[in-house]
Amino acid sequence: MFTAFLIKYAEIGVKGKNRYIFEEALVKQIKYAVKRCQGEFRVARTQGRIYVDALSEFDFDEVVDNLKTVFGISGICPVVCLEDEGFEELGRAVVKYMEETHPEKNHSFKVHARRARKNYPLSSMELNTELGGIILAARPDMRVDVHNPEILLSVEIREKIYLYSRTIPGPGGMPVGSGGKAMLLLSGGIDSPVAGYMIAKRGVKIDAVYFHAPPYTSERAKQKVVDLARQVSRFTGPIYLHVINFTDLQLYIYEKCPHEELTIIMRRYMMRIAEHIAGETECLGLITGESIGQVASQTLPSLAATNEVCAMPVYRPLIGLDKQEIVDIAERIGTYETSILPYEDCCTIFVAKHPVTKPNTERIRRHEKNLEERIDELVDTALRNEEVLVVHR
Ligand code: ATP
Ligand code: MG
Repeated sequence: MFTAFLIKYAEIGVKGKNRYIFEEALVKQIKYAVKRCQGEFRVARTQGRIYVDALSEFDFDEVVDNLKTVFGISGICPVVCLEDEGFEELGRAVVKYMEETHPEKNHSFKVHARRARKNYPLSSMELNTELGGIILAARPDMRVDVHNPEILLSVEIREKIYLYSRTIPGPGGMPVGSGGKAMLLLSGGIDSPVAGYMIAKRGVKIDAVYFHAPPYTSERAKQKVVDLARQVSRFTGPIYLHVINFTDLQLYIYEKCPHEELTIIMRRYMMRIAEHIAGETECLGLITGESIGQVASQTLPSLAATNEVCAMPVYRPLIGLDKQEIVDIAERIGTYETSILPYEDCCTIFVAKHPVTKPNTERIRRHEKNLEERIDELVDTALRNEEVLVVHR
């Protein structure tokens, strides 16, 4: 019976030109979400509202599930659309709507009519009272409560007439694309996909970079990262995934630097390379899945050491979360199952038994000097041989 959805979005703070950008981005993301559903849809923005109209048969749950991936949506209202066949017909349709959508007894309600088409013979006020009376006559168990109704029935008179009363919560946030772009360092773990999700939720478009080290890391480990990027892309739209072959860099660092500093120095090179790619792809920041104290490379001194190599802001949305809190989000967004697949990631092969937890940046810089001879050339080669995949749902 529902053939359209009214999309509610928070407007606070989104005024003037920003509001236009916000709405454009929201419409684009909604189109992306419904494109992967069965059926045909029209997404239209009229008078400060966004409607998704079904132009064919569709699967209600599938559409709602996909709309729930669109950041910026605060609520999804399933709408019944009627042709305007006169007021009497409208009265019958409203009674039928209430019976089917709200069969529960003894609820209070209020009719909220909006006459967007001014040539309709009844005013909004008249519609409220007349339709309220018709519902009461058909449903003596119900009562009107204008201040705090349990059911708020909206009736919008447009070319067609729209009825809706239920709001399914959306994910909130800001539409992806309304807030610039950032580069996610995406590994095969639990954390980084969640980090990308959280920054995208604030309207930021995401590209990603993955460092792999064949043959020490397998093709399956890479496929796992591609799968994670695809799951995140449900929320973000297509992701450009830059795959960088890190093997020679890693071996060279292994050869020239103290093993307990290997992870930190490697992380520093990852950040440098990620920043370079970010700069070339209009990204305004880096994103990592780091969280204070989680592992040796994420103590405050370690974070300081990885942070100092790049000038670009590094966003670490998980910084204050516990592992379990991160796992909860990963489960909710559907990345957890993939993340816990056992394939090795590039750091685990070379990790020292006792990595430094309090790296001394002076020392690290000094040890990086051991790399002077070949490191620039190795970085250049890695960048030149990058593979870029466009990952989407
Ligand atoms: P994750 O669960 O995201 O893999 P982690 O707990 O394993 O994180 P680390 O291995 O210390 O933590 O990595 C910290 C962050 O560095 C990751 O969240 C990710 O953003 C980035 N990172 C680590 N390894 C890679 C990699 N191979 N490619 C791209 N980014 C990486
Ligand atoms: Mg990891």
